[in-house]
Amino acid sequence: MTSKVITKLPAGMTTKSAGLVNKTIGVIGYGNQGKSQAQNLRDSGFKVQIGNIKDDYAETARRDGFKVRDIASVAKTSDVLLFLLPDEIQPEIFERDIKPNLKAGQTLVFASGYNYFFDYVKPKSTINVLMLAPAMIGWGVRERYVQGGGFPVLIAVGHDHTGDSHEKAMVLAKALGAFMPGGCVIESSFKEETLLDLLSEHTWAGAVLYTFRAFYDVVKELGFSGEAAILEMYASGELADIAKLMEKHGLFNSLQFHSHTSQYGQYSRGPDYVPSEAKAMMKKAALQILDGTFAKEWTKEQKTGMKNFERLKKENRKHPMEKDEEKLYKVLGRNESS
Ligand code: NDP
Repeated sequence: MTSKVITKLPAGMTTKSAGLVNKTIGVIGYGNQGKSQAQNLRDSGFKVQIGNIKDDYAETARRDGFKVRDIASVAKTSDVLLFLLPDEIQPEIFERDIKPNLKAGQTLVFASGYNYFFDYVKPKSTINVLMLAPAMIGWGVRERYVQGGGFPVLIAVGHDHTGDSHEKAMVLAKALGAFMPGGCVIESSFKEETLLDLLSEHTWAGAVLYTFRAFYDVVKELGFSGEAAILEMYASGELADIAKLMEKHGLFNSLQFHSHTSQYGQYSRGPDYVPSEAKAMMKKAALQILDGTFAKEWTKEQKTGMKNFERLKKENRKHPMEKDEEKLYKVLGRNESS
């Protein structure tokens, strides 16, 4: 079986063969991903300009030595455009500032599959459409590059007008840092990236939040310390170390670093919290992602004032664990909660 995971740029693929020699890369947005990706591409030898509205982000980009222009001008004058605005605002900015300024043969690059897969952003058929989605937060994209390490990047070609879009994606992924030690490219699709991203959020990531809350409630009900519970779950940093071990050795191998008592407890009790219906629920969630049900709901939510979002956020911030966390973090001299 051939792997879709690639750890070095295939022989024969070069900046020249990808048609990227002396090309200008425009990075739209200088936030989490924009700031890091722009700096990595510049350090890899590309000419990079930033498109941003006039504000603090634009000032930061200028201070970091970039030429900053309005979004429409950058769309007009870049050969490759990295679209690194929050997904929620991309459709509006695309229609207003980008689409009217794009010319045949330009390349538009998304860092997530969502807007293109669901047709919220629809470039003309004369535009190459790529996805370079780092499986890494923006901060990590820069930090790892600076330290000489890589990270996984999911790539896809949504539309190939010039015939060299796949090579472009591979060469740009290399310039971002994907092929540095520890990194890789995953040949994916807009559909797969959208599914993996949303399904993670809807299932295990969401379950972590609510499982932690329930754990805290039970510990308190039994008369024990909420602060000790918070330290046990995540505040000690043990969880982050466990995640590091999973990254390095794999989920199953990393269990050897837990005590036998811990391993036995996890193997024997863990399944109780993932009853057989859970898989059917996950499958339903996946189908509701793929058929656009979730995307429709989320678009409606944004267009109607984010009432449910604010209600759920408030309900979470009102959980008693939040107060205990604030108290604990103050004692530990950590961030004031935002
Ligand atoms: P950010 O929220 O960090 O983007 C901030 C940028 O968007 C700033 O330049 C900001 O400038 C600009 N912006 C925000 N609102 C507006 C507006 N109304 N009009 C014009 N510009 C605006 O985004 P991310 O970096 O988190 O996400 C960018 C892309 O990367 C998304 O597609 C996301 O899915 C993807 N991605 C993100 C990851 C992450 O870890 N965050 C991981 C992998 C992919 P200003 O405030 O000046 O307007």
